[in-house]
Amino acid sequence: MSAQRTTSLRGRPVVALCGGVGGAKLALGLQRLIGADLTVIVNTGDDFEHLGLHVSPDIDTVVYTLGGLSDLERGWGRAGESWNFIEALGALGGETWFRLGDRDLAMHVDRTRALRSGISLTEFTAATARRLGIAADILPMSDDRVETMVITAEGALPFQRYFVGLQCAPVVKRLEFSNAERAAASSQVLAALRNPDLAAIIICPSNPYLSVDPILALSDIRKALGVVTAPIVAVSPLIGGQAVKGPTTKIMAELGVAADSASIARHYPFIDGLIIDEADRTEAGKIDLPTLITSTFMRSLADRDRLAADCLDFAGSLAAVALRRTAT
Ligand code: GDP
Repeated sequence: MSAQRTTSLRGRPVVALCGGVGGAKLALGLQRLIGADLTVIVNTGDDFEHLGLHVSPDIDTVVYTLGGLSDLERGWGRAGESWNFIEALGALGGETWFRLGDRDLAMHVDRTRALRSGISLTEFTAATARRLGIAADILPMSDDRVETMVITAEGALPFQRYFVGLQCAPVVKRLEFSNAERAAASSQVLAALRNPDLAAIIICPSNPYLSVDPILALSDIRKALGVVTAPIVAVSPLIGGQAVKGPTTKIMAELGVAADSASIARHYPFIDGLIIDEADRTEAGKIDLPTLITSTFMRSLADRDRLAADCLDFAGSLAAVALRRTAT
């Protein structure tokens, strides 16, 4: 049924904007539906230097998820992971607050080697994805460093200190993305967004503040989204006014934003449509946009497939709306 529903977009490229775990779930459904026609543009604001290694948490989550290597129970990292390295490091008195599994470590070591030898993050990610047999293109949003800084009541915190080190406890006052004004989106990212044949842009149900905003902080990407004629559809990360996981609603409350679908719609003023969960059905009337109400909780693979098909189907129905947006 889903194949039939999405025929109108078949064979045409689709771009997804994505953070980590929540976004990667939908990216997997999209990849299963359209394979190599999918390009995933991934947040790198969480990237950081740790133990001398370049760690790219959201890219790795997307690579592991689309490569069938992720640990679905733990919710992050690789399946079948072992922890000898981090335990041995702890015994030496080293830093263990950010847990690196043994298999995961191989990625960070190889990425760091590649970057030091002059290979870009984009090239390294593409080569890794190819080796792992991943059909979609996975693109870091930029090859320039952009660092998400969480400005809290306790001061400015680098993202991983806030997220992993302090478990998101400090009260957020605002987010800053250092170097975003100078950083350039990669040529591959801009080519994907400017492809005249582009069928749709899907904003995955990632944390709008921590995962999607760093991507939108790049002016090249904002400009490209402002003129794209393909429909732009976002999937709300809220279900029944709650985040499935993570600090989304805590941050919304701290920023004085109501944790509801209308706030998500307002957060993305450039989108043509919003997908919300059935649990938030009563909020649809408050959203000043075409809205699709469906089940957005992705527990099983079938859930991911169905939501991916819903996204493409909904985007397909908004083609004329998107054209009118760019004509005005
Ligand atoms: P992170 O970078 O690993 O924190 O992951 P993301 O930013 O990509 O995703 C976090 C968001 O995903 C949270 O706001 C969750 O509510 C949302 N999320 C996770 N799983 C689901 C799901 O199955 N459906 C929906 N609608 N949202 C989800």
